[in-house]
Formats: sequence, C-alpha cells, structure tokens
Amino acid sequence: MRFAAPRRIMAAAVIGSAALSGCQSAGPTAPVASVASVDTASPDATITGSPAQIPGSAGTARPVTPSPSPVDETTRQVERLLTERSGALAAGDPGAWAATVHDPASAQGAREIAAYQGLQALGVRSLTVSDIRTLAPMAGDPPGVLTASVRLGYRIPGFDRADRVLTRTVSVAETAGRWRIVRWLGAGDQWEAFDLPGLQVAHTTSVLVAGPVPTEELLAQLAAAETGQGQVADVLGRATAAVVVVPTDDTEAAGLLGVAGSQIGSTVAATTHGRREPGRPAGADRVILRPSGLSRLTTAGRRVVLTHELTHVSLRAQSIHDLPFWLSEGFAEWVAFRDEGLPVRTIAAVLLERVRAQGPPRSLPTEADFAGQDGEAGVAAAYQGSWLAAQRIVRERGAQALVALLRELGGDPDVLAPVESAELAPDELALERAMSRHIGDGREQFVTLWRAELVALARY
Ligand SMILES: [Zn+2]
Repeated sequence: MRFAAPRRIMAAAVIGSAALSGCQSAGPTAPVASVASVDTASPDATITGSPAQIPGSAGTARPVTPSPSPVDETTRQVERLLTERSGALAAGDPGAWAATVHDPASAQGAREIAAYQGLQALGVRSLTVSDIRTLAPMAGDPPGVLTASVRLGYRIPGFDRADRVLTRTVSVAETAGRWRIVRWLGAGDQWEAFDLPGLQVAHTTSVLVAGPVPTEELLAQLAAAETGQGQVADVLGRATAAVVVVPTDDTEAAGLLGVAGSQIGSTVAATTHGRREPGRPAGADRVILRPSGLSRLTTAGRRVVLTHELTHVSLRAQSIHDLPFWLSEGFAEWVAFRDEGLPVRTIAAVLLERVRAQGPPRSLPTEADFAGQDGEAGVAAAYQGSWLAAQRIVRERGAQALVALLRELGGDPDVLAPVESAELAPDELALERAMSRHIGDGREQFVTLWRAELVALARY
C-alpha cells in the first residue's frame, strides 16, 4: 500500500510511570525538496542571531530566473565551487575548502568552514551536484550576492547505500575577481548533520551517531542504538547500518527535519527521515532525535523510542514498498517493547481507557489517526492499537508469521527489479491475500478479533 507524501507519524505515550514512544516518519516518497516550501521561522537565525545576514527570506520560495541562457554565470560558478568543495573532501584539504568560502571570518563563513569539519567527521569524501538553477533576486538580498538552487548529494561510507539528496539554496559573491560561496544553506532549507557546528561522530559497524553534544552523551546514545540494532536483528535476521543524529535542542531538530518547530508534535521524541524512490529500498535514512521529547521519557522510554526508529530504518532498507500504517508502526512498537517486560495494560493504557469510554475503534489505525486527527491521545491510541494488532499476530501465529507478512507486502529488493516492483506495490487485495496466507484470517475477521480483544482487555 502506498501513501501520499509527505506523511507524518507522531506520537508519544505517557503510561503510568513508563513513558514510552514517539515517532515521526517522513514518507518514503517525500521529496526532500518539498521542505523548501515549508514556512519556517528562519532556523539559521536562531543559531547565528543575525537573520539579516542570511540570504533569502525565511521559507519563501524564490522563482527561478527566466534566463535566455541555460547556463549563466551564477550556475557556472556554483557548479565550479561545489566541485571544488568535493575535491577538497576527497583530498582531505581544509585549505582548498576554505578557498571556496566568501568570508571565513564572518559568522556565516564560520558555518561554511564548520561544514567541512562535519563532513570530514562523517567520513564523506565527495559531493554530487545537479539541477543547478539560478534564482531570482529578492528584496533584502545583499548587493552583489547571487543565488541558485542545487540538488546536492552525499553519502556516508559504510552507512548510506545511496546518496542522500538535498535541495539547497547556495549564494555566491565575487570579490577580487573570484566568486566564492557566501552560504550554502538557505533560510528555508533542511539541515543535515554537517550543518551543525561542532559535530562529533562515533560509530560501530552497525550504527553511526552524530551530534554537537558531549562525547559522553554521544557514546551513551551509541550504546543504546547498538542494543536496539541487536533487537532488530533478532527479529529481522539482520539490522541495516543506521545513522542517528543527536541535536542539542528542538530548533536543531526542526532544522534537520526541514520544518518549523511548531510543526512537530510536542510529544514527538524521534523521527525517521529520508527519501525513498518508488519501488526502491530506502538508502540514506536518518533517525533524528528530539531533545525535549526524549527528556519527557524514562530510560526505558528512550530505549523503546530508539529501537522503534531503528526498526523503521531496517525495514525501509530491506523492502521496496510502504506498509499500511498499522502494520509498520505496530511492528516497530512490537520490536521495541519485546524485551521490556511491561504488562499489556500498561503499554496499551491510553487505548484501553478510550475503549472503556467509547468502545473499540471501528477499524485498524489509519494514516489520519497517526497524523493526529483525534488529538495526542488519539495518536497514542493508534500506536497502542497497532502494537496490539502486531502482538496478536505474534501470539496466534508466531513472530515468523508477522515477519513473513511484512516481507511479502514490503517486497524484496533483491528479487524484483525496481521498475517492475514499483508497479506491483501491494494494494488492498494483496493485503487481504497476505493476511489470509500468513495470519489465517482475512482482514475483516482479523479486525473483528482484534476489537474483541480490546474490549476484553478494557474490562479488567
Ligand atoms: Zn514509527
């Protein structure tokens, strides 16, 4: 089943003393470029404290300049400068990188220099550049500064299996006969980890953790993620190498998601973010932690959140189609809670309270339920209902049946060619057939039994 992008899944549950889970997942087909249209409150300004220096106005889409020539001076210079930056990364030459920066002594120039250090720390050795388009000047642009939009790709060796591709707004200026980059991150652009000054990186073979945070905190997150990867591998057979980004505050988290802070639900503690081409496995997801959401959780809750997101990363990397929300979220919750030893009524407390008040939901949780159409409690109930559905499948048919259902609906990247598989995305009929085959119940029967279980659990 495929869903329109971008989709947002968010939740957090505070259940008794055990605060639990949060998740916000960018849709597999969500174009990274779409974040440029989000009306953000200039995340750069929060960091630099000098919004007036930032080229472009926050979140405002610039029209592409109608140019008689397909390659104008701005386009040429931007391409040259980004190629030089790629060469500097390959050579490990900070001087060559610094030579592309317009004014290294300025606050913006310092951010440009810091990006080199961040990319080096991540192990990035090259950049790909495409779709350079000159943008029309806007009111407030400093004189002499020209801007272009660029599709910039990079990958972290050993962790990304495909380029992570971003749309960036690059501004350039000429001094002493040479063009240089003023800033390669527009006010409305989505940030990457290397845009965070002071980035530190720690990794094992299965997890890379990056953030401008103290080493001790970074290593603690790495250890927790390693444990989570072990839980994922126990269920799926293997865990795909994952990248976790640890921002210092919610502003950075919002920048990394390419949204305004107000657009992230207050209960979201972590997000799996990435692009996915139709019919292809995700190749460069990021798990982005959200400090304020995590701070509301217990140690167990933080562990559950991380394992939940790492489950998404592996499943998205090991499949080519989206799953129904109740199934992908239910599975991630099931993996995350599997070893926690919490009672069912603790994990599902919000949902069961609602069942007592208004009866069981009519259907399995939908995209709208996860998107918060019914408030934060509704989102929590959606996660809990999905978890109970997954839990039910495992109890009745075993974990292997749940995984077989996921594998069938998600498709195997190694079996089908991408073009063919994109046309074979599972629909309602495929879901019905797969459920009958692996669970023994068609969907209607499954929902009936699931609802009855909710009622029974709510009684006691
Ligand atoms: Zn999730």
